[in-house]
Amino acid sequence: MDPVEDTLRRLREAFSSGRTRPAEFRAAQLQGLGRFLQDNRQLLLDALAQDLHKSNFEAEVSEIAISQSEVDLALRNLQTWMKDEKVSKNLATQLDSAFIRKEPFGLVLIIAPWNYPLNLTLVPLVGAIAAGNCVVLKPSEISKSVEKVLAEVLPCYLDQSCLAVALGGPTETARLLEHRFDYIFFTGSPSVGKIVMAAAAKHLTPVTLELGGKNPCYVDDDCDPQTVANRVTWFRYFNAGQTCVAPDYVLCSPETRERLLPALQNAITRFYGDDPQSSPNLGRIISQKHFKRLQGLLGCGRVAIGGQSDESELYIAPTVLVDVQETEPVMQEEIFGPILPLVTVRSLDEAIDFINRREKPLALYAFSNSSQVVQRVLAQTSSGGFCGNDGFMHMTLASLPFGGVGASGMGRYHGKFSFDTFSHHRACLLRSPGMEKINDLRYPPYSPHNLRVLLVAMEERRCSCTLL
Ligand code: NAD
Repeated sequence: MDPVEDTLRRLREAFSSGRTRPAEFRAAQLQGLGRFLQDNRQLLLDALAQDLHKSNFEAEVSEIAISQSEVDLALRNLQTWMKDEKVSKNLATQLDSAFIRKEPFGLVLIIAPWNYPLNLTLVPLVGAIAAGNCVVLKPSEISKSVEKVLAEVLPCYLDQSCLAVALGGPTETARLLEHRFDYIFFTGSPSVGKIVMAAAAKHLTPVTLELGGKNPCYVDDDCDPQTVANRVTWFRYFNAGQTCVAPDYVLCSPETRERLLPALQNAITRFYGDDPQSSPNLGRIISQKHFKRLQGLLGCGRVAIGGQSDESELYIAPTVLVDVQETEPVMQEEIFGPILPLVTVRSLDEAIDFINRREKPLALYAFSNSSQVVQRVLAQTSSGGFCGNDGFMHMTLASLPFGGVGASGMGRYHGKFSFDTFSHHRACLLRSPGMEKINDLRYPPYSPHNLRVLLVAMEERRCSCTLL
């Protein structure tokens, strides 16, 4: 038998046995996930350093702590999230019980990218386990060291009859996608997102697509340039710019651009020293392929800061570009590296128009001392998430949904949103087998009087406490 088929059959049997349904089982799996993070902290830090030259600081903040806090949140709230949700009723169902039951989908597939290889694998996994599913986890084959830990160590902490880690790249994933899953959660590029969605459509499998794109960052004239530069620099060059929610380009007036340039230089030197290549705090590009792509982008416009690269170390300096044309590759594709173009616009209206002429981004940023300006950008644009006067801080809140809109994706997760994403919301109404007399008015022979009464009885009621 095909080994994939064999694994999927095993997982389906485990799901059908009902093993994953009790809260105690889900909690035990989540505790196992927490122990995996605690026991293997150094192993994970080393793997992240090997794959991306990720500093311990960035690895702790963006990979380990965030995964652990999702585990803790799910453990604290599991019982509440799993409870049936009572809903309001109409007159006709006043004596009945109406509720939403959160059911696990069954067998779910989680496909992850390489840029936050731990976070983007484990955070969806928390939601899938909490919701009571069996899981096939497909980490990225490009972040090899983390993939190895996830394949060899993680399963020791979880019930292996309910979880399988699948390895491989596009060919193996395509083969996996030929099989039927009950839900697919994909994080990655829009082009692969289309492949995943097309494969899911063959089985009518629902999907969440967490995709990427170009995130605009508007900087108003009314701002403190050094504060803006500190914040933009940290978020742009965090993980060497390989972040789906990183500010991709700055939109500002020519005057603000001139004030921002020395402030950006100042921030870059303070954060990474005079020689950023020797800084332990700056990551590296994941692969030769991405290095070459980014090296190509350094030729767009004019280099105002940085611009150096070293292929032997997959190093690209924190770079700021000016005078780029909209038609150049750096403004056509998601940069996904430590390069920041400053694009000039003459007004806020022009900036909003620039943003709205493009695909809806995953994140949008607006910096201004004026709350009206920030509110205008928020009101007149659309994006997956929005943060005023900072970078991607909004995604550190598990109380906010994380996900894209339009070309940046569909669906949402983090915290309770993850639990809901991996649950089927089943509409349930439990009626009394008696009191048939009341139902008489809905049966033929129909009459105008019965119709009037029935329409009133079926009207949405605000209050569920009134009796007939
Ligand atoms: P990718 O789309 O190349 O790969 C993602 C996953 O899909 C990997 O596991 C890979 O093995 C698999 N895959 C690749 N090609 C495939 C194919 N032809 N058929 C089936 N599966 C295939 O993405 P990436 O390079 O790993 O990650 C970078 C992209 O991910 C960027 O566009 C970035 O914006 C996006 N991203 C989005 C988020 C988010 O939360 N929205 C987070 C991180 C990254």
